[in-house]
Amino acid sequence: MPPDIQTGSDREALTLAYGRELFARIGHARPVPFSGSWWDERLMRWTMGDEAVKVQLFRFIDALPQLPSPQDVNRHLREYFSEAGPHLPGWLRRLLPYIPDNGWAGQLLAKTARRNAERLAQRFIAGSNLAEALQTLARLRSRSLAFTIDLLGEATITEAEAERYQGEYLQLLDGLSREVNRWPAIDLIDRSAAAPLPRVNVSVKLSSLYSQFDPIDPENTSRVVRERLRPILRAAQRVHAFVNVDMEQYAYKDLTIRIFREILLEDEFRAWPDVGIAIQAYLRDCLPDLRNLAGWVEERGTPVWVRLVKGAYWDYESVIAAQQDWPVPVFLHKWETDANFEKAVDFLLERQAQLRPAIGSHNIRSLAYTMASARLRDLPPSSYEIQMLYGMAEPIKEALVALGQRVRVYTPYGQLLPGMAYLVRRLLENTANESFLRASFVERVSEEQLLMNPLQRAAAASRRPQMPNGSAPARGFRNEPLTDFSRAEARQEMLAALAQVRDRFGLVYPLVIGSTPITAETTVPSVNPSHIQQVVGRWSSATVEQAQQAVAAARSAFPGWRDTEPRQRAGYLFRAAEVMRRRRFELAAWEVHECGKQWREADADVAESIDYCNYYGQEMLRLAQGQRRDVPGEENAYFYEPRGVTVVIAPWNFPLAILCGMTTAALVTGNTVIMKPAEQSAVIGAKLMEIFQEVALPPGVANYLPGIGEAIGPTLINHPDVAMIAFTGSKGVGLLINREAADTRPGQDHVKRVLAEMGGKNAIIIDKDADLDEAVHGVTASAFGYQGQKCSACSRAIVLEGLYDTFLARLAEATRSLRIAPAEDPGSSIGPLIDAEARQRVLDYVAIGKEEGRLVYAADVAALAQEGYYVGPHIFADAAPTARIAQEEIFGPVLVVLRARDLTEALDIANGTPYALTGGLYSRSPENIARVKREFRVGNLYINRKITGALVDRQPFGGFKLSGIGSKAGGPDYLLQFLVPRTITENTLRRGFAPVADGEEHAAH
Ligand SMILES: Cc1cc2nc3c(=O)[nH]c(=O)nc-3n(C[C@H](O)[C@H](O)[C@H](O)COP(=O)(O)OP(=O)(O)OC[C@H]3O[C@@H](n4cnc5c(N)ncnc54)[C@H](O)[C@@H]3O)c2cc1C
Repeated sequence: MPPDIQTGSDREALTLAYGRELFARIGHARPVPFSGSWWDERLMRWTMGDEAVKVQLFRFIDALPQLPSPQDVNRHLREYFSEAGPHLPGWLRRLLPYIPDNGWAGQLLAKTARRNAERLAQRFIAGSNLAEALQTLARLRSRSLAFTIDLLGEATITEAEAERYQGEYLQLLDGLSREVNRWPAIDLIDRSAAAPLPRVNVSVKLSSLYSQFDPIDPENTSRVVRERLRPILRAAQRVHAFVNVDMEQYAYKDLTIRIFREILLEDEFRAWPDVGIAIQAYLRDCLPDLRNLAGWVEERGTPVWVRLVKGAYWDYESVIAAQQDWPVPVFLHKWETDANFEKAVDFLLERQAQLRPAIGSHNIRSLAYTMASARLRDLPPSSYEIQMLYGMAEPIKEALVALGQRVRVYTPYGQLLPGMAYLVRRLLENTANESFLRASFVERVSEEQLLMNPLQRAAAASRRPQMPNGSAPARGFRNEPLTDFSRAEARQEMLAALAQVRDRFGLVYPLVIGSTPITAETTVPSVNPSHIQQVVGRWSSATVEQAQQAVAAARSAFPGWRDTEPRQRAGYLFRAAEVMRRRRFELAAWEVHECGKQWREADADVAESIDYCNYYGQEMLRLAQGQRRDVPGEENAYFYEPRGVTVVIAPWNFPLAILCGMTTAALVTGNTVIMKPAEQSAVIGAKLMEIFQEVALPPGVANYLPGIGEAIGPTLINHPDVAMIAFTGSKGVGLLINREAADTRPGQDHVKRVLAEMGGKNAIIIDKDADLDEAVHGVTASAFGYQGQKCSACSRAIVLEGLYDTFLARLAEATRSLRIAPAEDPGSSIGPLIDAEARQRVLDYVAIGKEEGRLVYAADVAALAQEGYYVGPHIFADAAPTARIAQEEIFGPVLVVLRARDLTEALDIANGTPYALTGGLYSRSPENIARVKREFRVGNLYINRKITGALVDRQPFGGFKLSGIGSKAGGPDYLLQFLVPRTITENTLRRGFAPVADGEEHAAH
């Protein structure tokens, strides 16, 4: 019975009445998810008291299923709680050192920990197989609760997994309907106001149906997902079941809605009403999306259901937006989400004939509002439904059923391993500060407050946005945000730029010496490595004489540029950054066509170039302040001065960023520059020169000198007027330059300075407790991103015994699932190598690998062989750490997977090459993480993430040993290398009288 109240049309009063009614029915019941066990409740109360303890406990639970032995369990228990240190109660801190590793006590402890975690998981997970799930569903039904069932297992990183997921849904629909459709009818849950409702109801995550689900490539993703979804929808139609599409992270939202709409407009599904989609009220897009859906339903002519929820990824969305410096898609205040939820409820109830409302919440205020709004519209309870999660807010479910309300329970089932991720999400949700359940049943906040209109709460709430840990600190320099290709406008701009650049293929690019563009008689074609028939542009190849002219031009421009105010020099860089920002998509498009970079890779390279301009500009302003150490009667100034003519020799793999980074560092410090781009990326080099011309750098300050390295390189390096060489490229050339530059030639009055960023043989260590999904994903991204042609790329995965075989098998499958396609195809994961020579070199190493190890996976690129320089990814196993494929830089998509007995051996292997550039570790052991931080000696070490993609300022980049000479690019010491420090001391004492130094008072004696 609904509350018997005379409230007229006062929705707020009716909401309060419904709310009070629900509270009254719940009485003293305590629907905390941890009820039922005194221990669980204690544990949760304790963790809720301290964020640090909570984080450690949940991390431990997350790692638990993958810990094979009692020793492992106990070690992690000790390590995690030791990390919480001062946050633990004294008694527990004292106990920690005595946690036994093994023996009967150790075994018992590990077993208890595991059993408790499983018990906790069982509160939220309906079983590990279909039979167990069916028992749970029968129990729900006996309480007049409907269900929607969800198969756990979220990170689909291989096509085999996607197909398995699809198969399991097909079985699920079959198995469930055979059983459930035999159960006696219950009108409350088997009928809506409009029609009988399917009893079998499944919830599907679309990203689980395709391992390469990616909003950057909506066409292909939609095509593959629809192919896999179609049989599921057909099976559902056949057995009279309902299918709901869950909503995942924001980046997937538009694509999820698009696929939902596209498939439901197909003839066979167009008239089918038993489908729905989740929409998240915490998103600012929520109402516009609902409006669009309503419009689309008009077109379709058949209603769909909308499950309105607040959203499960609030922390994630806020952290990602802060990390990427993207607009935050979610509301920042809880009251805003709640208020938006109520608006969306009204919207749905208003259009319930098209968008059937399924309201997903455990919040009594949100539910009461829904019920009041429906009643004010004279909608019977059967015209909408309320949905809640399995294991949460049980008394509220009971109270709603008693009020004649249809309640559907979202019931996940599946294996413990994916189950743990789900469990941790539920634990986080229930223990979050903003959680309604926590406030009402743990913290006993008053009913009035809990039922308060969110808009009223707004007035009381602090104005300060609540950001989770990790929000970006306010600082001077900000990294240029990467483009968010989940946005349709960004994709359109990129497509347009690719087409425009294609229209400009074949132009001829001159050298620039002084301010004079010079087109050589012979020009060299620059070929698109994805389509070798396409000539992107032709560049003028400099002669030895032109190299000498360029040095002379740079030399004569030097004094004026040296004496230009640092602020003015920095200004040129800031303006260049602006031009790059304006031409961002165009520059990225040139990279796609000339260097075979995929969209995101190309975009990141342009963003990094902008960063270099801004960062080095600001760094120069800092350094220009110099240092004063004045004392009475003596002035001491420490300041910097540039070195002179600088030759910049850049590679093609970061065709704009590295050339731009080295050049702008030299320029802003007052040096004049000769830019020699790689032969394979000379058109992009010409674009950089265009930018320098656009910002009107004085003549001769930057000279553009593309040419054949062997022809003009020696002239530039050996020239007595060259003061400095900044090089990035192979170890062989780097060491050669270093040797040559060390010689002092006739007429040379200085020792040359060489900066050389050279190669790497980078390794990622995979600990046996690593998160497998993340490790496999991180290794494939690091090893095969841009076809492994990055100096930071991973070429060795060192896996600890215990996880080795599982990891290798999953890695091979994940790699098989990557799409090999031309770089301009937005869904391309693997594109071409840069040129024929690179292709041959990589194929030679593949042949060596076959001698030295076991080829586990090799992609077939036959279909593209004639089109471009394609070599698919190769994975080798069982090679010795000293094998050539495990020691030499290959610079291609070749990965060797090495086995290590323990972490000591893994570190020996990892450190056992002449290089020290990047490295990584996937581990969930705090002690192992700490040890690897100490002992894995590389320039850039990454823990639990991919090892490529360093950002200026945040992760200054560069290595040591034979990986490089010099300090890190994009870091605070980089510019110093382009400068010489000077000190000037002036005695200001004249006949016992000295001027007053700044900030100094005259002491009157
Ligand atoms: C049946 C069902 C299915 C679901 N399916 C999905 C799904 O497909 N996709 C999905 O993303 N979610 C889904 N959820 C929602 C999600 O998992 C949470 O259960 C839900 O958001 C909790 O909201 P509440 O109203 O119960 O609790 P409340 O405690 O009232 O609200 C908590 C929610 O408020 C939001 N929030 C928290 N802090 C802030 C803040 N500072 N500023 C703004 N907003 C904040 C968050 O969304 C948080 O989850 C589903 C929920 C149910 C019940």
